[in-house]
Amino acid sequence: QHRKGSFFDVPEVLVHELHKLESLLTVSAGTLKKITDHFITELEKGLTKQGGNIPMIPTWVLDFPTGKEKGDYLAIDLGGTNLRVVLVKLGGNHDFDTTQSKYALPEGMRTAKKEVLWDFIAECLKKFVEEEFPEGCTAPLPLGFTFSYPATQHSINNGILQRWTKGFDIEGVEGHDVVPQLQASIEKFGVPINVVALINDTTGTLVASMYTDPEAKMGLIFGTGCNGAYYDVVKDIPKLEGKLESDVSPDSPMAINCEYGAFDNEHLVLPRTKYDIQIDKESPRPGQQSFEKMISGYYLGEVLRLILLELASERQLIFKNQDLTKLNKPFILDTSFPSKIEEDPFENLSDVEELFNSVLQIQTTAPERKIIRRIAELIGERSARLSICGIAAICKKRGYKTAHAAADGSVYNKYPGFKERAAKGLRDIFDWETEEDPIIIVAAEDGSGAGAAIIAALTEKRLREGKS
Ligand code: BGC
Ligand code: MG
Repeated sequence: QHRKGSFFDVPEVLVHELHKLESLLTVSAGTLKKITDHFITELEKGLTKQGGNIPMIPTWVLDFPTGKEKGDYLAIDLGGTNLRVVLVKLGGNHDFDTTQSKYALPEGMRTAKKEVLWDFIAECLKKFVEEEFPEGCTAPLPLGFTFSYPATQHSINNGILQRWTKGFDIEGVEGHDVVPQLQASIEKFGVPINVVALINDTTGTLVASMYTDPEAKMGLIFGTGCNGAYYDVVKDIPKLEGKLESDVSPDSPMAINCEYGAFDNEHLVLPRTKYDIQIDKESPRPGQQSFEKMISGYYLGEVLRLILLELASERQLIFKNQDLTKLNKPFILDTSFPSKIEEDPFENLSDVEELFNSVLQIQTTAPERKIIRRIAELIGERSARLSICGIAAICKKRGYKTAHAAADGSVYNKYPGFKERAAKGLRDIFDWETEEDPIIIVAAEDGSGAGAAIIAALTEKRLREGKS
């Protein structure tokens, strides 16, 4: 809603700009429905042999977790900022305990040499294992590797990186199986670890959440990147034809890592703006991850920066006589920036003043702060509303009338208003008349810890039973 009253001191020309931005960034219920319909078509297409925009990767997780999985497992999660190493003790009664360490990725790791990356992980593992198992280990520890990038899997313990996302750009990994690359470094450092499963963060989230919540139907990440996983049925996945061992029943479940950050790479339905187009053009992988680039945490601050830069530099409507050097730096604003702006109440905006001062060395005027606050709101709202189209599409495709959509990630957990806006978006798509929403987003269980461990346990069980 437009807070007209409080905009009295904002110059007419800026109010006009704001109206233009509002119509660019607001996604109507009708548009959400249209996007969802196209999303369903793309999910289906991704499962065919020809494929489509969305990779729809079979994960070879062929079982539902029962909650009875037991044992000690290691798990690692290579995220954008940290490497997390977790020792998971699955209790076997829908419960688990974790002990973890976080290791900050050294500066420049996003674009380092691949050996530097794998050696760094192996060294962290070595430290962790020495701390947790001072007596040494009798057998190699099974490890579930959460690798949150699109990787084609021919079995559970491999994954060929299709392409880096989220600003990573390390040579010699795209087109290669990442498991032997990691295992080689593990061996080099003499750590007693066996990588038994490669897991996408969404698949881990799905499985961990089902371990504790029988209503969980999908695992979602709204964070630096965005994506979702759900269980389909083998016979409904045409591209698996000829790739399955004969002991796999056509009725078997198969978890699918959608990789729907790539949704609408053809640009048919998403209401892209010139800011989105510029972000894509200047990214290391233009043409990829169109949906993700409009909604995920890695890009939200950048959308804000481009809009402000246009108003300041091109149009000279704000930040007059200010030094714009910092504002000119791509990706200088991480997600915490728009997120903090939105946390500041409209009536006050002293945090916004302080933020612009400290991060961008820009002195703002009171009307400028209102404009900034409103733009941040528009960006956050657009992200939340577009984000839920994947949930709606999966529910419609699978015929779920009720569902828990288990979500994790920094945007879901920390971005102000995201949860409420996402819930409202789902209501706009489904037009429910019930008092309670039948499909709700719930906070996920620890996917890259517990989820990776449970999948490693399911894998070991299949191996023990001689199944493929
Ligand atoms: C990756 C996905 C991942 C998502 C959330 C995307 O950029 O392609 O594999 O699940 O980010 O981390
Ligand atoms: Mg992550």
